[in-house]
Amino acid sequence: MQFIDLKKQYEVLKEQIDKNVVTVMTEGRFIGGTEVKQLQSELAEYCGVKHCLTCGNGTDALTIALRCLGVGKGDAVFVPTFTFFASAETVALEGATCIFVDVDERTFNIDPKKLEKAVEEVVKEGKLNPKCVVAVDLFGQPADFPALRKVTDKYGLKILEDGAQGFGGSINGKKACSFGDISTTSFFPAKPLGCYGDGGAIFTDNDEYFELMSSLAVHGKGSYKYDNVRIGYNSRLDTVQAAVLLPKLDAFRKYELKDRNVVAAKYTEALKGDYVTPLVPEGFESSWAQYTLILDSAEQRDELQAKLKEKGIPTMIYYPIPMHKQTAFKGYDFNNDDLKVSESLCDRVMSIPMHPYLDDKAINEVVAALKECK
Ligand SMILES: *Cc1c(COP(=O)(O)O)cnc(C)c1O
Repeated sequence: MQFIDLKKQYEVLKEQIDKNVVTVMTEGRFIGGTEVKQLQSELAEYCGVKHCLTCGNGTDALTIALRCLGVGKGDAVFVPTFTFFASAETVALEGATCIFVDVDERTFNIDPKKLEKAVEEVVKEGKLNPKCVVAVDLFGQPADFPALRKVTDKYGLKILEDGAQGFGGSINGKKACSFGDISTTSFFPAKPLGCYGDGGAIFTDNDEYFELMSSLAVHGKGSYKYDNVRIGYNSRLDTVQAAVLLPKLDAFRKYELKDRNVVAAKYTEALKGDYVTPLVPEGFESSWAQYTLILDSAEQRDELQAKLKEKGIPTMIYYPIPMHKQTAFKGYDFNNDDLKVSESLCDRVMSIPMHPYLDDKAINEVVAALKECK
């Protein structure tokens, strides 16, 4: 059994993907081909956002967005401590200070109440300028943007939505990657919408941001290609990757997102009596980047994972160490007590196989093994 079955997906979409890739190679449009423009326009439309700029990967997308927002030295950027490293790494890379915030125990996303408390503390201390929140759509579920906006509006902060795992999710029909002042996603192969290598995208409704980020992504280009007007990056999505993503986006829109939700619903129905299953609040829809159970303790979790492995059921721990305990962030000043939920989740979470091509036989096998090993 595969944890995420990309081979199966390729079997289904092979004809169109192969044709698209061969076309790009035959015509030699490797950089900035029409497929890239078509993809950007389809992504923007799907997410309900005015502009989409594709780029090299989800980490670059965050970096370019932070640069665009003017985040730098002396700024406080609020980041959930339960996330993938890039959400915080990019902030530190820009020279700003990460203020790590705890998450909600059941949605795994940044806790708006604890965010407000953290912002107030930074304001009170008066050393850093509270600038921005990196709100991560962890495991496919959008962060609680209605609640977060109330806090950010009150304190004049921007929201950067890290939708690397969130693509396809929604709140009351409004799609993920449309909630931030700038939103980003990743097309790393294992994400809900993945390509065959690295890739990413940035979304915004703001014309000025879009123009600035388009420049930043290509060496700070100006209107004349050989007069660069600022220091930028080299971060583009290859035409070949866009050619792969077009039929994948089509499948995602037509049935993959639905099928991910069907798999999740079957898991939840079968497991809710025995395990703490993921909570999707009213009005929210997840794209199920991960299906994550919460166990009672680290011991129980590790034992269960070992037993499942023996039965041939792959599982993963996303994530075993919170940001504030990462070696790279050693020496950062933080209040441990406020980050307890995330610390406890890191000890107790376990993700089980999840992809849109998981059939009933496999689902039943995972469920039976989980019930047997409890
Ligand atoms: C994967 C991921 C990223 C980084 O995306 P890459 O394309 O791998 O650079 C950033 N944030 C989160 C939450 C992610 O899961």
